[in-house]
Amino acid sequence: MRYHNITKDDMLNGDGLRVVLWVAGCDHCCKECQNPITWDPNGGLLFDEQAKNEIFEQLDKDYISGITFSGGDPLHPANRTDVKELMKEIKEKYPQKTIWLYTGDSWEHIWNYPLMKYVDVLVDGEFKIELKDAKLLWKGSANQRVIDVKKTLAQENKTQPVLHAPDYAEDSGK
Ligand code: SF4
Repeated sequence: MRYHNITKDDMLNGDGLRVVLWVAGCDHCCKECQNPITWDPNGGLLFDEQAKNEIFEQLDKDYISGITFSGGDPLHPANRTDVKELMKEIKEKYPQKTIWLYTGDSWEHIWNYPLMKYVDVLVDGEFKIELKDAKLLWKGSANQRVIDVKKTLAQENKTQPVLHAPDYAEDSGK
């Protein structure tokens, strides 16, 4: 797996303060994507032990709520296996921390991926410029969904997402 950045104390990509891993590789090609530099799976840097330790140093801090995987697309074929192994290690080492995952794919296509057992919240769907709204909570366009993965997978019908968050923050006036 390759990556572009590890951001720290991030407040924009999930609940609380988080460490965010921005992976390389995405084939969704959304119009007006804000991160086209991340599309190439061969771009960025190799995700090595040093990068992993950089993440663990953040997760060691009590005030860090967890990790968010973004990109790029962490579910791109170039990333899926390594992301799963990293999630597994994180859940074993930091069971109290949450894992968020952003992907351009839709829940209906990916709910049965093995890595989903490690994910707490999934933000799904391609970015659609015609549905863009800067006031949306945790997502860029209105078609995307912020899904509570644990609650959704506990249901009989696992393809029907249970939402983790409403479209807008309660105090946004919408
Ligand atoms: S899924 Fe995300 S990174 Fe990929 S093209 Fe769409 S907006 Fe860009």
